[in-house]
Amino acid sequence: MSCIFCQIIKGESHAYKVYEDDLTLAFLDINPISDGHTLVIPKLHESRLENLHAKHSDALFRTVRRLVGPIQVAVDAPSSNIGINNGGEAGQVIQHIHVHVIPRDGSKPAWRNELKRALPRSGEYFKDVVQKIREEIES
Ligand code: 5GP
Ligand code: ZN
Repeated sequence: MSCIFCQIIKGESHAYKVYEDDLTLAFLDINPISDGHTLVIPKLHESRLENLHAKHSDALFRTVRRLVGPIQVAVDAPSSNIGINNGGEAGQVIQHIHVHVIPRDGSKPAWRNELKRALPRSGEYFKDVVQKIREEIES
């Protein structure tokens, strides 16, 4: 398998590692959106969050939580965007799940301002969507 992040885990490709434990690895994004842009990955090849075993997702988010404060302090950014591009239609390029930690100092617009929002929707619309999601959770 030629997954670049698996190669980084195995030490076959170089990365600027910021943290490592038994189940997770964090390293600097090669093409950062901001100083300190870090990727946190499980040490297991899985592309999507919904397919990641709970043991690995727990470890992944534990590491994100542990690192976000120090990353922000290190680059003097008071805030950060934390996100996953979960699947190709959401912009995922590397098929090994990764959490982006992107420190933000307010000098660039927040990402949500770059996405077009829907106009206000009706109560019927929200009832329909919430019902579909609840049914899927229970099925
Ligand atoms: P995605 O769009 O899949 O969520 O983001 C993939 C991220 O991985 C991008 O931000 C990209 O800059 C980063 N990336 C791609 N290849 C490499 C690499 O070889 N090393 C590192 N450190 N980051 C990479
Ligand atoms: Zn991989």
